[in-house]
Amino acid sequence: MAVPDVEDHTDRTTGPQRVVIVGSGFAGFTCARELCRVLAKQDRDIEVVLVTPNDYMLYTPLLPDVAGGLIDPRFVAVSLVDALPRVRLVVATVESIDLDGRTITVTSEHHTPRTLFWDRLVLTPGSVTRLFDVPGLAEHGRGLKTVAEALYLREQLLRQLELADHEGDRDLRRARRTVVVVGASYAGTELTAQLRALADTYAKRRGFDPAEIRFVLLDTADRVMPEVGEKLSDKVLAVLRDRGIDIRLGTSLKELAGDHVVLTDDTTVATYTVAWVTGVTGAPVLGTLGLPMERGRLTVDVHLQVPGHPDVFAAGDAAAVPDLTKPGTITPPTAQHATRQGKILARNVAAGLGIGTQAAYKHRDMGLVVDLGPGFAVADPMGVRLSGFPAKVVTRAYHIYALPRGINRWAITVTYLTNAVMPRPLTLLGLVGPEEASFGSSEGIPERG
Ligand SMILES: Cc1cc2nc3c(=O)[nH]c(=O)nc-3n(C[C@H](O)[C@H](O)[C@H](O)COP(=O)(O)OP(=O)(O)OC[C@H]3O[C@@H](n4cnc5c(N)ncnc54)[C@H](O)[C@@H]3O)c2cc1C
Repeated sequence: MAVPDVEDHTDRTTGPQRVVIVGSGFAGFTCARELCRVLAKQDRDIEVVLVTPNDYMLYTPLLPDVAGGLIDPRFVAVSLVDALPRVRLVVATVESIDLDGRTITVTSEHHTPRTLFWDRLVLTPGSVTRLFDVPGLAEHGRGLKTVAEALYLREQLLRQLELADHEGDRDLRRARRTVVVVGASYAGTELTAQLRALADTYAKRRGFDPAEIRFVLLDTADRVMPEVGEKLSDKVLAVLRDRGIDIRLGTSLKELAGDHVVLTDDTTVATYTVAWVTGVTGAPVLGTLGLPMERGRLTVDVHLQVPGHPDVFAAGDAAAVPDLTKPGTITPPTAQHATRQGKILARNVAAGLGIGTQAAYKHRDMGLVVDLGPGFAVADPMGVRLSGFPAKVVTRAYHIYALPRGINRWAITVTYLTNAVMPRPLTLLGLVGPEEASFGSSEGIPERG
């Protein structure tokens, strides 16, 4: 069904009521889908508008596999036009929000800025990589929040490996064959494992010892992946060390330059490839609202409503949602919570429009699945600790199940099956340059000085 472009009504008393959702990640996508389902059964003139910079929902848990060259980036991008046919899609970025005037201003490279009104506003713009005041980080580090960043890391690694093959100087060759990843929680650890697998494939294909490619994984914490508990964390540490990954705990970066980094223990590591995966903070647009925030996330109540603004809702990484299963804490920024909060958002927005009743958000964490490259994964579904092959099966089955569209599930299934019998491809397409993968570009804001 083709949905016409969003019109702005000058007379707001006659047009349909409008729910505007900002952001098409796990929370915004789920909210839009569930809200359309609820509204389809009602004879009400209510339109659902989704404003988002890209015309897809990004399945971020598989970004490390994209960076590792295992999965094609199109397979982790869920088409919004296909998945949400009843939603009015505005491919643009929300620049400002007027809470009293009930409008938002959106910009895109294809249109001049325009203003859209809303009757209910749902804020789900997610998060951005948390940067610290480390000299050289914005210029020389790259995150893992977008397709561009994942592709850049893959291409940067392959490019440096190819340059190293032709490098006569031993030290330079070693630098080009060195990768530094900062952040050993699940995303950074998965990234390290996938890049290691890509590098190993390259070395085998080019006939040299994979041990010549060095990986350094840093974290200020005293263990890798503390999220999965001590036992699994110890297993992960052993497996990564067995793969030759140099893990330095209690250590981070002090400084980055184009050809080296300096660690906090003053060691210098020569490298051209640095990934920064140290956690997230709420999307920049949230800071423009002048509303109470907690740890970079917008304060909301258990109904996902912004206090003092009953028509404004927020959830996912963007919101500090009280965790009713652990009083006094907020829910962690995970896809698991964002998806479930998206459903409650839809329910409570509908309730505010006189359809059904509202509910408080309460969800007990179901555990994590973490794919750590060839033959290994860890998972703790419902508290059952798994590692190795059983965890691999659970992890891959979970991702296929959790992807919200059949075509994406199919593509990922075929990729996994192909990968069981064929090595991952090493082609270097050179599509993403350092600028497109900079932290500023991933946030849709100009580069920081
Ligand atoms: C590499 C990686 C691996 C991960 N693995 C897992 C995992 O295995 N399990 C798990 O539970 N979680 C995982 N996560 C965390 C998970 O991705 C997030 O918690 C989840 O994406 C949060 O969903 P969200 O809807 O709040 O935000 P997002 O999914 O980040 O979506 C935010 C949306 O808002 C849009 N947006 C931002 N600013 C604006 C604006 N100004 N105007 C309009 N739109 C805007 C964005 O473009 C995006 O569409 C991982 C994250 C990463 C980066």
